[in-house]
Amino acid sequence: MKTLKIAIQKSGRLNEKSVELLKNCGLNFENYKSSLISPVSNFPLEILFLRDDDIPEYVQDGIADLGIVGENVIQETEVKVSYLQRLGFGKCSLKIAIPNHSDISSLAGLNGKAIATTYPVILKKYLVGHKIESDIRTISGSVEISPGLGLSDAICDLVSTGGTLKSNGLKAFADVMNSEAVLIGREGSENDDLIQELIQRIQSVLRAKE
Ligand code: ATP
Ligand code: ZN
Repeated sequence: MKTLKIAIQKSGRLNEKSVELLKNCGLNFENYKSSLISPVSNFPLEILFLRDDDIPEYVQDGIADLGIVGENVIQETEVKVSYLQRLGFGKCSLKIAIPNHSDISSLAGLNGKAIATTYPVILKKYLVGHKIESDIRTISGSVEISPGLGLSDAICDLVSTGGTLKSNGLKAFADVMNSEAVLIGREGSENDDLIQELIQRIQSVLRAKE
């Protein structure tokens, strides 16, 4: 019998909820310790623990059959995968934010300004869609401190409560996208019987939570 592989985040904001969801589906496995792969003892499934950034490509390329990852990561990596189920956790928004005392007062005010982000692909599409030309500065983290350091005029970053913006003297200015964790598979994989069985289990766990 074939064994499916599902990729979930190894550690970080989505790890705990992903593990909890799979356990609530009645799947028996050990959480990530040092091994990157954990077999499920009562379903033909293996759990792969990965960096979230790698999950969309692993699913697209067939290394994993399924993945749990934020929509923001899927959009940024521009992969072709099927959205099988929205999961209702990991909710956040990608927003453009500016310093509290910025003189930018409209979207057009971003023309010619520097925007720091770890999401250059999504930001670029948003700016093109609004006919704005900004200087996108791609950095790998700590985006929120870049205006204070004089590295940028604005940022484009994930926000959930807004606490990080506030404590860095920033305010939300424009919504670029909303995101939550989703279950993804290869295109066409929704027709697979085992995958259907898992989706059914996930849906009943989600329904029980409503
Ligand atoms: P990894 O080590 O796997 O690369 P990471 O540091 O890139 O992890 P996390 O900060 O753990 O990522 O966030 C994982 C996902 O959680 C995000 O891609 C996003 O979908 C979601 N998320 C929910 N709320 C927030 C938030 N306030 N800030 C950042 N991400 C959030
Ligand atoms: Zn990541």
